[in-house]
Amino acid sequence: MERDATRRDFIQQASTSAAAIAALAGVRAGAVEGGGTCYLCITCGTQFAETSRPPEHCPICEDERQYVHPDGQQWTTLDALRASHKNVVKKEEEYLYSINTEPKFGIGQRAFLIQTGAGNVLWDCVGLIDDPTIAKIKELGGIDEIAISHPHYYTAMVEWSRAFGGAPIHLHEAERPWVMRPDPCIHFWSGEERALRGGLKLVRTGGHFDGYQVLHWPAGAGGKGALMAGDQPQICMDPKQVSFMYSYPNYIPLNASQIRRVVERLDPLPFDRIYGAFFVRGKGIVPTRGKEVVLRSADRYLRAIRG
Ligand SMILES: [Zn+2]
Ligand SMILES: [Zn+2]
Repeated sequence: MERDATRRDFIQQASTSAAAIAALAGVRAGAVEGGGTCYLCITCGTQFAETSRPPEHCPICEDERQYVHPDGQQWTTLDALRASHKNVVKKEEEYLYSINTEPKFGIGQRAFLIQTGAGNVLWDCVGLIDDPTIAKIKELGGIDEIAISHPHYYTAMVEWSRAFGGAPIHLHEAERPWVMRPDPCIHFWSGEERALRGGLKLVRTGGHFDGYQVLHWPAGAGGKGALMAGDQPQICMDPKQVSFMYSYPNYIPLNASQIRRVVERLDPLPFDRIYGAFFVRGKGIVPTRGKEVVLRSADRYLRAIRG
């Protein structure tokens, strides 16, 4: 409890200090015409509200689930990133494309574009958005809605929304304190499930983050269903195993009740395939029997942490 209270205090202080930085620079958080810059943290890729100089801290990286760059907090801009990086859009299966920034930027996750008969959904996000990416995504039908698993991947979500007509971004309300660039395009939802277009559904699992959400894509894997997992469950080097962590870089595990809760939330969803946030062994998928893999891996985890 004490640890939770400390974390809450930290989040509160962190978001207060981000707001204070914005106020100091004379810009309202989320403003666009202030003549400042929306800096990106190079370690986590998060883009911050517009300021006239780089923020002093990145609360996402200072949180115990992440880490500050070994040489100290560093920032970049979208223009600099556009000059040094590119996005690779790759077809993963029918109606599904991955978007991956090369060379690696920030945490190194990928995003996905899912095409449905009722429009397209961007799942998760990356820090880079540029004209070639926008052109390619437009060829694939554009983006109508955006949903992001958790704050580690919020990155440049507001830029992505604006590039596609202000597409709504659906985040769980529990993660509101971690939004570093507030914007009207961000819609917070509450509860345990939220339907998106085309039969897609967000499910809150908690665990890695209290408002952690996965995306269920029933038409994925040729109609057998796919789970868009982000980094929880995390696909292991052996794609017959997944894992669950409070912090991946700092090796902080989840406790038994948190693992059970994640499994309880995933078990009712019909899925055969799991898509993770990273190209593990060049792929980053559990190609088949995904549900079985989740249940078996959770059992193994619970046995391992039993005192
Ligand atoms: Zn950061
Ligand atoms: Zn994460």
